[in-house]
Amino acid sequence: MILPKVSRLAPEQVAEITRIVESFGCKIQPIIGAVRTIYAIVGDERDELMINRIEGLDYIDRVDRIQSPHKLMDKRSDLASHRIKVGGVTLGEELLIIAGQCTIDPKNPNFFYETAAAVKEAGANAIRGGVWKPRTNPYTFQGDNKSLDILMEGARRTGLPVDAEVMDEQQLHLALAAGVPMLQVGARNALNYSLLRAIGKAVAERDTVVLLKRGMHMGPISEFISAAEYIAAFGNPNILLCPRGTAPALDGYRNHPDESITPLLKEKTWAPVVVDPSHSVGKASYVTGCALAAVAYGADGLCIEAHVQPSAGIGDDPKQALTPDALAKLIKQARQLHAMRRGTHS
Ligand code: PEP
Ligand code: MN
Repeated sequence: MILPKVSRLAPEQVAEITRIVESFGCKIQPIIGAVRTIYAIVGDERDELMINRIEGLDYIDRVDRIQSPHKLMDKRSDLASHRIKVGGVTLGEELLIIAGQCTIDPKNPNFFYETAAAVKEAGANAIRGGVWKPRTNPYTFQGDNKSLDILMEGARRTGLPVDAEVMDEQQLHLALAAGVPMLQVGARNALNYSLLRAIGKAVAERDTVVLLKRGMHMGPISEFISAAEYIAAFGNPNILLCPRGTAPALDGYRNHPDESITPLLKEKTWAPVVVDPSHSVGKASYVTGCALAAVAYGADGLCIEAHVQPSAGIGDDPKQALTPDALAKLIKQARQLHAMRRGTHS
């Protein structure tokens, strides 16, 4: 829908926008109001270049799109019936719990094996473990290729799928070669379109699931869904959207908690929402409240940092990892709430 700055366009202005839309295979239909005339674009109005050309005209205020730019991720797309399964859980039916260490410590692999066993015992369906880490400070531990073997050994010992973040194509190919079934795109890379494209292509023929974090500086919700559209457009629709808090932080929290965007996402896209309360609030004592709020808002899953001995962990674990006991309690409450929400609570 084209909204001019003036109440009515002059005939030569109508002719100019008609020429533009016709070159993209569309037509113009004026909608004459009492005080203002607006112009509907008849045809596929999603072409970004056509919209930019019209919005570049100095007598046009803006073009409002009616059709979604997310052909594949849109709630009305054919993919809406696509079901994603992780660790025996079908997203949308049962609550998915991913839990584990922020960062695998290659010098202490037993911590990871013990954490993996403990989060399984607490009720998790999949295990997270950071192999390569996006650290703000270049002098802190950046991860280690050795941790990939530790991650896969954790998967073998527990029989659960594992999730690790990849930050570039080299890590992507190492992770896929090792058989990592779930790849995480972190908050710093959620707008890295070459990485999103590479992931979509690399996992096109596989069942690999992609946990796409919400970028820490992302704006409108459509920006988040468009990032997922990249992965789907290049070949893989197994995408979980993961709100994890945005910057600037809410005073006292690590980020600005954003679990409340879940219902808004669900109005626009079919993709399951798996909230990460750990990075959102950044402190172990706040994680359970945020996780339960996320489930109340409609989350299909949670991704939680946990460690058998948080104080001995590395990366984020000393400040935000839950102990296995706290995690077990959270999982029990979250599943009860999820059942209540779905009306299946007995
Ligand atoms: C993480 O999962 O440990 C992490 C670094 O996440 P984010 O990209 O959300 O900061
Ligand atoms: Mn972390």
